Amino acid sequence: MFCVDVAINLPVKSLFKQFTYAVPAELNFLDSGWRVVVPFGAQKVEGFVVQRREMTSLPPQAQAKLKNVEAALGDRPWFDKEMLATAKWLADYYMCSLAEAMRLFVPGKTSIKRHAVKDEEGKLLYYAYEERLKEKTVLAYRITEAGRAALALGDSRAKAQMAALAVLSEGEWLTVNELSEYKVSAATARTLAEKAWAEARQKRVLRNSYVNLQRRGEVFTLTDEQASALEKLSASVKKADGKTFLLQGITGSGKTEVYLRAAAEAVAQGKQVLMLVPEIALTAQLVKRFKGWFGDMVAVAHSKLSQNERGDVWYKMHTHQANILIGVRSAVFAPFENLGLIIIDEEHESSYKQEERPNYHARNVALERSKLTGAPLILGSATPDLESYYKAIGGEYQHLRLTKRATGSKLPTVELVDMRKELQERNFSVLSRKLKQALVTTAAEGEQAIVLLNRRGYSTFVMCRDCGASIVCPHCAVALVYHSAGEAMRCHYCGNTAPIPAECPNCHSRRIKFFGTGTQKAEAELQELPEVKVLRMDQDSTAQKFAHADILSSFARGERNVLIGTQMVAKGHDIPNVTLVGVLAADASLNLPDFRATERTFSLLTQAAGRAGRGEKEGRVIFQAYDVENKVLEQAARQDYDSFAKDELKDRETFFYPPFAQMLKLTIWDKDEAAALALAKRVTDFLKGQQLEGKLRDLLVLGPFPGLVAKVRDMYRYNIIVKAKELQPVKDALLASQFKEQRNLFFDVDPVSVI
Ligand code: ADP
Ligand code: ZN
Ligand code: ZN
Repeated sequence: MFCVDVAINLPVKSLFKQFTYAVPAELNFLDSGWRVVVPFGAQKVEGFVVQRREMTSLPPQAQAKLKNVEAALGDRPWFDKEMLATAKWLADYYMCSLAEAMRLFVPGKTSIKRHAVKDEEGKLLYYAYEERLKEKTVLAYRITEAGRAALALGDSRAKAQMAALAVLSEGEWLTVNELSEYKVSAATARTLAEKAWAEARQKRVLRNSYVNLQRRGEVFTLTDEQASALEKLSASVKKADGKTFLLQGITGSGKTEVYLRAAAEAVAQGKQVLMLVPEIALTAQLVKRFKGWFGDMVAVAHSKLSQNERGDVWYKMHTHQANILIGVRSAVFAPFENLGLIIIDEEHESSYKQEERPNYHARNVALERSKLTGAPLILGSATPDLESYYKAIGGEYQHLRLTKRATGSKLPTVELVDMRKELQERNFSVLSRKLKQALVTTAAEGEQAIVLLNRRGYSTFVMCRDCGASIVCPHCAVALVYHSAGEAMRCHYCGNTAPIPAECPNCHSRRIKFFGTGTQKAEAELQELPEVKVLRMDQDSTAQKFAHADILSSFARGERNVLIGTQMVAKGHDIPNVTLVGVLAADASLNLPDFRATERTFSLLTQAAGRAGRGEKEGRVIFQAYDVENKVLEQAARQDYDSFAKDELKDRETFFYPPFAQMLKLTIWDKDEAAALALAKRVTDFLKGQQLEGKLRDLLVLGPFPGLVAKVRDMYRYNIIVKAKELQPVKDALLASQFKEQRNLFFDVDPVSVI
């Protein structure tokens, strides 16, 4: 007899431990990695088998008390050894329960749906469950021996049936759709089955929402730099040595081409490839290039897939019906039959970090899977994350560099415009005269431009001219943003909308004014320029499934000549006719009180500039700013990553930030502000106590601070920041304390931002 230890898949923080169940004889195949249904209290819930043991490993009294596993889910264990090990690592590293880590690997987080079963008086009897992923199946037919005999005899009165048998005579299973291509109707097929001339069964069909993309395959001779990078990557793929590479290449240097060929090498070895991209906006162009090479063996997983579609994609990878998976952050949890290479494009992007519990970083998870499977990991970027760069120059990662544009085109020239001067000279537009002029010329010459403004909406806030009060969201301590659509103000934190008040809620003045500029207002100004036809791309214009791809392809086809938008216009795409890029408020994000603000601004500006002049004509870039002397703007203008990194690393070392320190952010939420602060103080005292014991050197505990937005959705927020050379002892201390299961305290290991 066997028993199994099961992690219960309930999103409850306190379920850190596992529960043991007996395995009934008919489920004797159960082993670690299976998803199962188990009784839990009065309910039936999903669980993940973590370990299989001999029943005799338990004392007899305990054996007698065990409940049985109720059922097994799926037709194979969901987790293999490597996935299970990755989940265990994730739970330890990010301070969550094993179940929380494991459910990340399951599409839709759980594979069963519970519903209550009640008696006639409405009294709850128990919960029943059903499998959640509905597999899409169609009928398929195969000829039987009797069918072959009938075909051999022939029957001139049943021509259609004989024709159908002839179609089936190869002996393959053919679906009704396939049969209809041979002019065999579903009715005829059914008749064959009734006569036992054919057998029928359900066959699983896989949904694919990207079938409409066209193929585009081009073959280049690699540049020397590309060739030398590829050589090292291919060797590592062949050896399956699990090495990590930083592929640092300027925009347009042909990184994607290197990914494609490294992927081809892995596929040639009979292996699968995982390719992560930061957001859907980038996927369409990349998917096209991969489909050009690998056809239908490419599967795509983005965050807007339905749960069933995602289930199909996962199944395809698990059964090796596809070679390549392209996906956003969560695709790092896909099951593979034989993983041979992982690629993370734009590896510096913060969208790889999940901002909710468990706060994992996809790059870290990929590193772990790479180590465990031997699949080499390629981190690609023009502006690498400083932590990756630091490891590359220190020799921990292999550093591959592409320093020239692959097409031989030159990097664009970048000009800085001082917006203070514009104001002094009475230009109150959000567009400088230089940028206006450049936009008009570009449009007149039949070329295209991209304008970046990293703020959506119309005005950024609405303020009273008399008392200075701004209109804030009643649930969040943050200003509402005016959107021209629908004439409403919207909270960017909770989505709450409110009409613009006729008078100030504070002093009743009627002199309400709009301040700041968002993408919608800039769009309105651009529309006034001659020859300019504007297209806008931001979160508000891309709410639908394929809106990003539609906007970008409409722009790429030249239907409009100016694309304005938030950071999503700055990234990834390659449109040769774009010769001008303008950045409004280029220095705005430099002043955010966050240690990564400088790095993020540098990388956004560099990426934006890199969109210009990718074709034959040289590109031009205009940064508008108030603080034009800022060194970071100048480094971004020169696209000088190394000089930026050198300065920034020095600051990080001085102020004890990553990569020189490890960080942990603790956040406390409470409806009651005083309670939030009291708990925050207790946690801080606890952490400082740890420090005083002298166990830990180089430990800094900062806070508690109210969050930059101190209240969101009526909940008050306090943050505590811990910095340490080595964070593990701090994590251990917290997990051994009563704070481990504190419901309104959240741990964020390696936070992307501290505010
Ligand atoms: P990155 O991913 O570094 O921004 P891409 O791989 O998208 O660069 O390449 C930029 C452009 O150069 C693309 O249009 C691509 O088709 C082209 N390209 C890439 N490699 C070569 C090459 N070896 N020879 C000619 N053109 C190339
Ligand atoms: Zn007022
Ligand atoms: Zn709000």
